[in-house]
Amino acid sequence: MSERHANSAQDTGPEFPARPPAVRQQAKRAVYPGPVERLIEEFARLPGIGRKSAERLAFHILKSDGPAALALARAVEEVKKSVRHCSVCYNLTDSDPCAVCADSQRDRATVLIVEQPKDVIALEQTGMYRGLYHVLMGHISPLDGVGPQDLTIADMLQRIDKPGSNPGGIAVREVVLGLNPTVEGDGTALYLADQLKPRGIRITRLARGLPSGGQLEYANKAVLADAIQGRQSME
Ligand code: ZN
Repeated sequence: MSERHANSAQDTGPEFPARPPAVRQQAKRAVYPGPVERLIEEFARLPGIGRKSAERLAFHILKSDGPAALALARAVEEVKKSVRHCSVCYNLTDSDPCAVCADSQRDRATVLIVEQPKDVIALEQTGMYRGLYHVLMGHISPLDGVGPQDLTIADMLQRIDKPGSNPGGIAVREVVLGLNPTVEGDGTALYLADQLKPRGIRITRLARGLPSGGQLEYANKAVLADAIQGRQSME
């Protein structure tokens, strides 16, 4: 047994050599000029962007020429000014009601319920669905404190109960549940089916060509098209 080992066994200190005097912990974050720091902080607020990526984006902006950087700023301003939720279906739109709700060629007696505006885009890309939509703006999730009253469920029920509030004054005859095939999506679908059953309309749901645990926005066109065609009754 080596002398070194014997020594370390007698050592009452920590098993690993002490770190060199806290240089690592004290390594300070680089201090950028105020406006740069603010830009980094704004980027870091975006989903999926950490501090390092935010710094990279900020320096990209700093390097790029004036017009390109300002085009980004203007696009952000424009989207916040002109894009809002459709007052009927909550789809994202720059006109109210949205193009789908305003299209008299669509089947206004059928309403497909989805969680997010991006689900509408994914379904529209299939070209297979000709009815209207209703965007819930999320799903019921008791663990996250999201209840039915936090979604647009009341507006959706009103479209059914007061046909005057559905585009063209057309009565809704079928509701298609197009929630994500997740635990929360399924729970929300069950809640909606309970609310809809007494109203005497046809209730269907998208077929399970969709992968369990997946999300509509990531499904390819063929899978979504199958899901629309193979939708099943929930009664
Ligand atoms: Zn709409």
